[in-house]
Amino acid sequence: MPLSLYFHIPFCKSRCGYCDFVTFAGFERLIPEYVHALEKQVLLYSSNDEVRTIFFGGGTPSLVPPEHYARLFITIRESFRLLPDAEITLEANPGTVDNRSLSEFRNMGFNRISFGMQSARPSELQMLERQHRPEDVVRAVTLSREAGFENINLDLIFGIPGQILKDWKGSLQAALDLSPEHLSLYSLIIEEGTPLARRIERGDIPHPDDDITADQYEWSCRVLEDAGFRHYEISNWAKVDVSRDLRCQHNMQYWRLGPYLGFGCGAVGFLPARKDAPRSPGQLMQNEGGINNYIKQVNLVNKRGDDSIFFKPVTETYEMETLLFMGFRLLQEGINPTEFQHRFNVDLQQVFGERIDGLFERGLIELSPEGNYRLTRNAWFTSNQVLREFTGVSD
Ligand code: SF4
Repeated sequence: MPLSLYFHIPFCKSRCGYCDFVTFAGFERLIPEYVHALEKQVLLYSSNDEVRTIFFGGGTPSLVPPEHYARLFITIRESFRLLPDAEITLEANPGTVDNRSLSEFRNMGFNRISFGMQSARPSELQMLERQHRPEDVVRAVTLSREAGFENINLDLIFGIPGQILKDWKGSLQAALDLSPEHLSLYSLIIEEGTPLARRIERGDIPHPDDDITADQYEWSCRVLEDAGFRHYEISNWAKVDVSRDLRCQHNMQYWRLGPYLGFGCGAVGFLPARKDAPRSPGQLMQNEGGINNYIKQVNLVNKRGDDSIFFKPVTETYEMETLLFMGFRLLQEGINPTEFQHRFNVDLQQVFGERIDGLFERGLIELSPEGNYRLTRNAWFTSNQVLREFTGVSD
């Protein structure tokens, strides 16, 4: 199965109030050294493997000047067999791109761009401590089209404190007006220890209202279906297009628990168990979290020529549970019992029968016309009830 590659770019101009990702503000001076470490880590995995998706996430990957990516792409192309139709995504902040950088990104091979739009309301962007204005998103999308991007995603956040349904409708409509090929809609999670969580604890702003958040999700599901989008994953919608599959192929690899390597600080990867290769059983890959620690780790591994510290073997039960945890996120596809049997040489019912039967009884899962297990519509918004059945049970 072809590989996917994830590159974590941990640089941001400033930290948004709700963010708890591995990302740092004010460290741009480390970009050259960091990209060099990425190249070194890529070289460690030089193989004849095919690569079908690459995703640069962050952080703010668009903060890294295009010339750094140009060098990295040479290393990637020399190290793997990059498929001609590979999906190559760049995450970008609307305020950090211009026509020159976008043309350069497009010309070097990026063919999908994902903008953190989050909201079309200035007051909400301010509350989230985002650095861009709504008009920056319009400009960024227009310039991306001019640069030749034909696959654009917009990320939006709902369930923002004080946001009513009407506000959310306005933001989603503003996103639709830009005709994106893909939309990712996330319910705001108030992460402990973030400035936003502290403001809520102090009572400066209200906690998001769960009922309003549920209504916003419900409304989005209906409106996007009418707008010609396919709701293929809990938080993701792709425009229906008979000539191409606009689902995010990189994330599909995660949800199907295919092989992927993670490069950069805090990045994770996974190599499924293979009966015909040395890396068996399944291996979880995890890099150091801080920028400097990651650079040191890569230099050390390079010197020793042994990449084993990045990997930790996992049990077969862990891999099975993770497959269900990820696969149930795919709303139409779900879990195919025949593929499960083929992958693990054991019947799905035999391993998870009790849990699956319980979920059926509670009306949370159903059988698709193709005979796959998948979430019922009622469980889309409360999918955690299903997913938690398959997390951390065995490891
Ligand atoms: S731009 Fe994204 S990654 Fe950076 S601080 Fe804001 S939310 Fe976090």
